[in-house]
Amino acid sequence: MIHFPSKQPQVQTTIFTKMSQLALDEGALNLSQGFPGFDCSDELQELLKFYAKGHNQYAPMAGVPALRHSIADKTRAFYDIELDANTEVTVVSGATEALFAAIHCCVSTGDEVIMFDPSYDAYDPIVRLAGGIPVHIPLHAATGFRIDWEDLARAITPKTRAIMVNTPHNPTGSVWSMEDLDAFAEVVKGTNILIVSDEVYEHIVFDGAQHASVLLHPELRKRSFVCGSFGKTYHITGWKMGYCLAREYLTSEFRKLHQWVTFSSATPLQYALADYLKTPAHYLGLSDFYQKKRDLFASFFQDTRWKILPSHGSFFQCLDYSEISSEPDVDLAVRLTKELKVASIPVSVFYETPPNDRILRFCFAKNDDMLEEAAQRIAKL
Ligand code: PMP
Ligand code: GLN
Repeated sequence: MIHFPSKQPQVQTTIFTKMSQLALDEGALNLSQGFPGFDCSDELQELLKFYAKGHNQYAPMAGVPALRHSIADKTRAFYDIELDANTEVTVVSGATEALFAAIHCCVSTGDEVIMFDPSYDAYDPIVRLAGGIPVHIPLHAATGFRIDWEDLARAITPKTRAIMVNTPHNPTGSVWSMEDLDAFAEVVKGTNILIVSDEVYEHIVFDGAQHASVLLHPELRKRSFVCGSFGKTYHITGWKMGYCLAREYLTSEFRKLHQWVTFSSATPLQYALADYLKTPAHYLGLSDFYQKKRDLFASFFQDTRWKILPSHGSFFQCLDYSEISSEPDVDLAVRLTKELKVASIPVSVFYETPPNDRILRFCFAKNDDMLEEAAQRIAKL
């Protein structure tokens, strides 16, 4: 064996991989890892089949022009925002790559990057790999995981290089409002702080709310890398296709990173998406579609000892079980998978210093029958 120092000695296999594997081993209903339990549309599959002929060589590094233009057109139609398809849109292999390239293109040794816990599991290790120092600000269920803007202002130092944003939020389902954008802008105004904004659930926002993209606020937009994913919007998490939207001076640095990570993303997938994005109906109905599933799943926990935490966006429902058990959430998630055959994700793993909460996250992007069966198995606890 060759000995070498691990670059990530504290890092383990992700909780999503662990819980999905356990669900498979146990024959459990898998509401842990976030992916749709149904297929993408026939139309998208036909487009892929069509473009699999004759479009099988490298795409341009920044993405095929047809897809970059479709993304810019969709952004204009949905947000009323003009993007330059040539200089402000980059196609990448999933939002994970967008996050990696955005963080690595601007974070150097000793730079601090602020993130709000619970934070998506990729942020902290990517910052560390870039030599940066993650600064975690904990948010709490009792206050609806709202951000205290004064806490944020206090966490900023001369070393703060960037702040991670995630709305709609994984794992809690909280969403930012336009007022949040204003408050955030007040904090960063006059600084050189950059923003990496993870907006992969932009089209899954409930109860009539509008997604508050940082693109909508000029003070935020000028300093933001917006990371998006087609996986969530079109039920194609396995395609690993995403994009980064950013001003030209940020995009040019982003692309320097992207060219060394993957260089370019799968060509036939890009052409298929370029066509598919042209029909707004493919994403406009998504919030209603998932809101029905959220409501169906939650309905089984009314009048039980599970406490339903509000889910305003994403396809996750968090449930508080503190009235049922004092068991740590990691243990309960494993036990429920083994004994009741329902897999979930413990929320404590998304904290640097986990609070004393007792919360599990359930993915409701599943067929109604499965949601009903899973809910009935655990509601009786
Ligand atoms: N950010 C968040 C908040 C996510 O939930 C996910 C994936 N589920 C990603 C990024 C990664 O997206 P992708 O699969 O497109 O890499
Ligand atoms: N983002 C998905 C989730 O939150 C998982 C993605 C992954 O497995 N890396 O469940």
